[in-house]
Amino acid sequence: MSAWRPLGRVVVVGAGSAGCVLAARLSERDDVHVTLLEAGPDHRSADTPPEIAGASFVAAKDLPGRSWLDLLATRAAGQDPRVYTRGRGIGGSSAINAMVALPGLPADYDEWVSRFGCTGWGWDDLRPCFEQSALVLHRAPRGEWGEMSMAMAAAVPRAAEGVLLTRTADGRRSSVNDCYLEPARGRHNLTVIGDALVDRVLLDGRRAVGVLLADGRQIPADTVIVAAGAIHSPAVLLRSGVDTPGVGDNLHDHPSFPIALRRHRPAALDALPIATVAMLSSEMGEGSDGVDDLQLLPMEHVDPSMPDLAMVMAALMRSHSRGTVRLASSDPTIDPTVEFDMLSDGRDVAPMTAAIDAVEQALAHPAFAAVGEVLPYDRSPDGVRAALGDYVHAAGTCAMGTVVDTRCGVIGYEALLVCDASVMPQVPRANTHWPTVAVAERLVQLI
Ligand SMILES: Cc1cc2nc3c(=O)[nH]c(=O)nc-3n(C[C@H](O)[C@H](O)[C@H](O)COP(=O)(O)OP(=O)(O)OC[C@H]3O[C@@H](n4cnc5c(N)ncnc54)[C@H](O)[C@@H]3O)c2cc1C
Repeated sequence: MSAWRPLGRVVVVGAGSAGCVLAARLSERDDVHVTLLEAGPDHRSADTPPEIAGASFVAAKDLPGRSWLDLLATRAAGQDPRVYTRGRGIGGSSAINAMVALPGLPADYDEWVSRFGCTGWGWDDLRPCFEQSALVLHRAPRGEWGEMSMAMAAAVPRAAEGVLLTRTADGRRSSVNDCYLEPARGRHNLTVIGDALVDRVLLDGRRAVGVLLADGRQIPADTVIVAAGAIHSPAVLLRSGVDTPGVGDNLHDHPSFPIALRRHRPAALDALPIATVAMLSSEMGEGSDGVDDLQLLPMEHVDPSMPDLAMVMAALMRSHSRGTVRLASSDPTIDPTVEFDMLSDGRDVAPMTAAIDAVEQALAHPAFAAVGEVLPYDRSPDGVRAALGDYVHAAGTCAMGTVVDTRCGVIGYEALLVCDASVMPQVPRANTHWPTVAVAERLVQLI
C-alpha cells in the first residue's frame, strides 16, 4: 500500500462524479492546492445550460460538447461498435445521466473486501460515505410520473414508491458541479480549468510529477489523481507508459436488453424520462446470491425524433463477463478501443434470460397495454446477443486489488492515484453515480 505523504499540489484529471468530489473535499484542507482539469467546458452552477438542468437526460446527453461523440464500444462479440455515452464537461457523466440514485447492496461492498482484498472498503466503511455525501436526492412526485412509470408501478409493486433522483425538490438536476464544486469555487486553493484535455501523466522514474495537456501545457504536481472515468482513466495511464499489470482489463457494465413500445400518445420530450425502477431477483446462484440482480427500467421517451417511442430495459446488475480498454493511438484526441464482451461468461446467460422474462411478465400487465403496443423483438440467443446493450455503467478498468492499492495508489508508482468508477473491482448492483461519489468520499477519508 502507498505510504502516507503530504499531498501538496494536487492535480485531479477529470471533473466528473469522482473528480468534483475529490477537488471539493481536498480543497477543504489548507495544506493542499487542487487543480481540477476537465477536457470539456467549465461553467458555474448558475450558468448550467437548460438542457442539463432540466428533467430530460435525453436532452442533456444530446447537448453538443457534453459527451464523447467519437467514443465507440462493442457490447457483445459479433456486434458492430456503437457510440458509448460518457459525459464531458464540468460534472462529467453526473451532468447528463438519468439521475437515478441507488447505493447497491451491502454484500456488493463486503465482497470487495472478501474477494478482492480491499480492506477498508466494506459496507460498514462505505455506508457513512453514502449517508454524508453532499448529493441532493429527491423522488419525483406522482404528478410528474409518465405513463410508463405508472404502468411499471402497477405491474411490479416494488416500483410503486419511485426511485431517488439526484435533483432538487423543484426538479432541477443537481450534478456534482452544483452540490460539490459550486460551494468550493471561492477557495484560494482550488483552480478549475475547463477545455483542458490531459494527454499523459509526467513521470520522474516511477513518481508522478505533473501532467502534460494535449495543447502542450505542463502542470507540475506533487500528487496526480486520475479521475477520468472507467474508459478514459486507463487510457491516460496507458498513454503515460504505466506498466502495472491489469490496466484496461476487467471492463464491465450491466448488460441490458431493450424492448420498445409504440405509445398511443406521444410523450412530451421535456418530461422526466425515468421516475422509477423495479429491482427483482433471478435467484440464480452460480457465483452470485441471485438477489436484486435484475433491474427493469421504464423510459417514457428515448429519442427526440420519435416521441411515440418508449422503452423498457431489462438489465443484469451482476455480470461475470469482462472486456478491455486498449489504446487505439497514442494521440490523446483519439478515443480508445472498447470491447465489453458481454455474455462471454456462460454464467451470465441464464440470469440475462431471467431479466428478459421479468420484463415480459411486467409488459403483460394491462397497464402497459393502455400505454402502447410492444414492438417486435427477437429473444433467440442470437437475437439477444445482437440487440444487447450497455447500461452506461462502465467500471473496473483500474481495479482495486490489481491496479491500485487500498489507498487508490497505482501499484508500483508514487504520488499517482486513480479514483473513479474504474477502481471498483466488481460493479455494485446499482446505477453507478452515487457509488462513485461514495468511493471518492472514502478515499478522501483515507488520505
Ligand atoms: C447517459 C448516462 C446516463 C446515466 N444514468 C445514470 C443514472 O441514472 N444513475 C446513475 O447512478 N448512474 C448513471 N450513469 C452512470 C454514472 O453517471 C457514471 O457511472 C458516473 O458518473 C461515473 O463517474 P466517474 O467519475 O467515474 O466518470 P465521469 O463522471 O464520466 O467523469 C470523468 C470526467 O473526466 C473527463 N475526462 C476524460 N478524459 C479526460 C482527459 N484526458 N483529460 C481531462 N478530462 C478528461 C471527462 O470529460 C469527464 O468529465 C449514467 C451515465 C450516462 C453517460
